[in-house]
Amino acid sequence: MKILVTGGAGYIGSITVERLIKAGAEVIVFDNLYQGHKDAIHPNAVFAQGDLADKHAIEAVISAHKPDGIMHFASYTLVGESVEKPFMYLRDNILNGLNLMESAVKHGVKGFILSSTANLFDDPEHMPIAETERIVPGSPYGESKHILERNLHWMDRLYNMRYACLRYFNACGATETRGEDHDPETHLIPLVLEVALGQRDKIVIFGDDYDTPDGTCVRDYIHVVDLAEAHILAMKTLLNGGSSIKYNLGNGRGFSVKEVIETAREVTGHPIPAEIGVRRPGDPDILIASSEGINHDLGWKPQYPELRTIIEMAWNWHQAHPNGYEK
Ligand code: UDP
Repeated sequence: MKILVTGGAGYIGSITVERLIKAGAEVIVFDNLYQGHKDAIHPNAVFAQGDLADKHAIEAVISAHKPDGIMHFASYTLVGESVEKPFMYLRDNILNGLNLMESAVKHGVKGFILSSTANLFDDPEHMPIAETERIVPGSPYGESKHILERNLHWMDRLYNMRYACLRYFNACGATETRGEDHDPETHLIPLVLEVALGQRDKIVIFGDDYDTPDGTCVRDYIHVVDLAEAHILAMKTLLNGGSSIKYNLGNGRGFSVKEVIETAREVTGHPIPAEIGVRRPGDPDILIASSEGINHDLGWKPQYPELRTIIEMAWNWHQAHPNGYEK
């Protein structure tokens, strides 16, 4: 299969490209390198540098390569930032996604996978969160993904482009060669590991007055390789005539911020000083996925469900790349 991967130089995108190429796929990466890293792009992928805001650039790539499927990772992804810069998220994520969809349907792309998010579920009635849960976006970021999910519904209905919306919970972990490198870093696990590397003095816990057992937020941490494998399975299903679908992707287990820090202390042997700070806007108390849908339909289940293994693999990558990719 020939797959176009937008955001293939980013964290989840580049690791999915690695797994796609290992599975024998032909891959074209489209990335503006605004947040991605050139060194994260697999050497066997074709790389087209461009911006999804530029309709001609994406049209040129799709018409030249005629991919069977598209995996759309490229977007702004931070809940907190989206609360501060709502227009950036509501405008760019949505318009860029639409530019891509318009070209995709024009060239008869058969399968489209959208990186979606647990932030669709700000006020869940049931935990763990299944695909049947009502959608209440928790931020402009979550709203932008919700609208893209709705747009895909129309692409299927009007143009027969099948899609899968994969709602990630907390992506983390690394492979031997690729890992998490954001600038600035905002995610819990890499920040905690930066403390262990001596690059930060401490980790600030964003609030300990949540309605959870230890007062800190509970999240479902899912290994990035497991996410990548879910994309490949979903794409094969779409290209083999499967129907459009939405899946929540997580481990089905939650860990608090304090538990993550404690596990990182055990893995790294570093004391990792922590202090309690104020809440970060947009953070719900608990987010845990039910991935029974994709398990039932496609037989997917995480290969790396243990938080300790996830943090060990991330730690290996951070030790080998203390300054990230190209600094
Ligand atoms: N968090 C924290 N301190 C930090 C970064 C994150 O306490 O410096 C918390 C954050 O409030 C959330 C959890 O860690 O409850 C995971 O946050 P992250 O940004 O990694 O992922 P998100 O849940 O936003 O996708």
